[in-house]
Amino acid sequence: MIDSRDDERALALSTLQQVFGYQNFRAQQEDVIVSLIGGRDAFILMPTGGGKSICFQIPALIRSGVTIVVSPLIALMKDQVDNLVALGVRAACYNSSLTAGEGRNVLDQLHQGRLDLLYVAPERLMSDDFLNLLRGLTPALFAIDEAHCISQWGHDFRPEYIRLGQLRSLFPAVPIAALTATAEKQTRADIINCLQLKDPYRVVCGFDRPNIHYSLVDKVKPYQQLCEFLLRYSEQSGIIYCLSRKRVEEVADKLSRDGYQAAAYHAGLAPEVRRSVQEDFLRDDVQIIVATVAFGMGIDKPNVRFVVHYDLPKNIEGYYQETGRAGRDGLPAEALLLFGYADIALLRGFVEKNNDPEKLRTELHKLNAMVAFAEAGICRRRVLLGYFGEVIDADCGNCDNCLNPPEQYDATEYARKALSCVYRVGQNFGMGHVVDVLRGAENQRIKTIKHDRLSTYGIGQDVSRDDWNHLLRQLIQLGYLEQDVARYSILKLTEQARPLLRGEERLKLCKPRTRVQRGKKKEHK
Ligand code: ADP
Ligand code: ZN
Repeated sequence: MIDSRDDERALALSTLQQVFGYQNFRAQQEDVIVSLIGGRDAFILMPTGGGKSICFQIPALIRSGVTIVVSPLIALMKDQVDNLVALGVRAACYNSSLTAGEGRNVLDQLHQGRLDLLYVAPERLMSDDFLNLLRGLTPALFAIDEAHCISQWGHDFRPEYIRLGQLRSLFPAVPIAALTATAEKQTRADIINCLQLKDPYRVVCGFDRPNIHYSLVDKVKPYQQLCEFLLRYSEQSGIIYCLSRKRVEEVADKLSRDGYQAAAYHAGLAPEVRRSVQEDFLRDDVQIIVATVAFGMGIDKPNVRFVVHYDLPKNIEGYYQETGRAGRDGLPAEALLLFGYADIALLRGFVEKNNDPEKLRTELHKLNAMVAFAEAGICRRRVLLGYFGEVIDADCGNCDNCLNPPEQYDATEYARKALSCVYRVGQNFGMGHVVDVLRGAENQRIKTIKHDRLSTYGIGQDVSRDDWNHLLRQLIQLGYLEQDVARYSILKLTEQARPLLRGEERLKLCKPRTRVQRGKKKEHK
């Protein structure tokens, strides 16, 4: 017996070859296409450039009826439609950029069944006139591009996307495909809920960049650590990301003085300066760009060998995007993150200035995920891809934690001191204060609230502030402490802390990484 799916597979492949001129599907494109042809909903999460469009364009050509593609940006729509028309596909767009005459023309084509794909803006689609028109036609498929715009949790919420939630009840028989490159867990759930997707076929893939080696060092003397790292990149291109313009200038100056061909790039520079820096970098006239996140959009330089984060990025999306600028040519490349606790406090400060409570919650959550990535003791690629919803079967063998697992030590006594100090300050203070008390700091605040009289005052003088921070963060990560995000991040003990405090349990923790380690180069084909 021949599975009818086999026919659909063959048809999908021949469409790919004949219409789009590609020989093979990329991973997972084929399965989702076949399942959409069969009428099942789909949820497609792939990074930009991953090949999402074909996933709905091929079903659009195979299923009968018109496929309605919702897209938020007129410019994007026009590009896609122009490309399709150039390939001989019957596609058009319907949006506010058309003249009345052009608009009527598109509607005529739609009416006469002469379109396979119609791109519309969400507010156009959901207008009563247009919905009435569609009801007489029974579309083949709805493809919702940039589907994360429906989520208030996401970074790009568009109110006009909310109404798309009615499509399911208005057109119960028409499958819906949701497409996005943004992957935060809550956003994914929102998309599926709001669009009322029914058991969608899920594709989450393509986020892995196997040739990038991820590593991290605890930031102690950042410039020195950077130079140590740069020793092995005497001639090759790289980008160093800093949080502020001031830091960018500083680091670029120091590097230039130390003989590197380095240039600064940030939004405060004149456009012509920025343009020439960018061109110099593309031509390899400048080796290193020191930049804020303003640098990199639309830059496609294949031979960037390393990306250093001199400061902590504010979320994993940004980190992923910035590190992704390394190794586009597929050859080995490195991503190094300098991880300092002061950066967390600084970023948290920025986030807390947010007046919108929803935004505050989202951004804090994202920052915490970034910190958790930095503090992870397991394969970094697992954590990174896991954030994007992609699961890998095995450790990657190409990150610091895989190649040089963090060293452990018996931290029982230190952990006990820290936990009892949290208890003594009434579980009512944040990390900075707890460390002050442990280290016996002599500040006015401590004197005023008489915390210099606590039994835990000064019991941790032998340990540096950075090391205490590191230890406390690990206690949080392992669940001995929790941080009340809603109340100034104050520290509290959890149930789990009791046996440790009572001396019934011992605890091993990871030592901080401070030395830049050489990533063993993996062979890549
Ligand atoms: P996305 O929408 O996910 O950002 P696109 O759909 O625009 O990505 O695809 C990115 C590029 O990859 C396009 O140039 C597209 O033609 C190409 N592409 C997609 N699928 C394939 C394939 N199976 N084989 C070769 N190239 C492909
Ligand atoms: Zn790994």
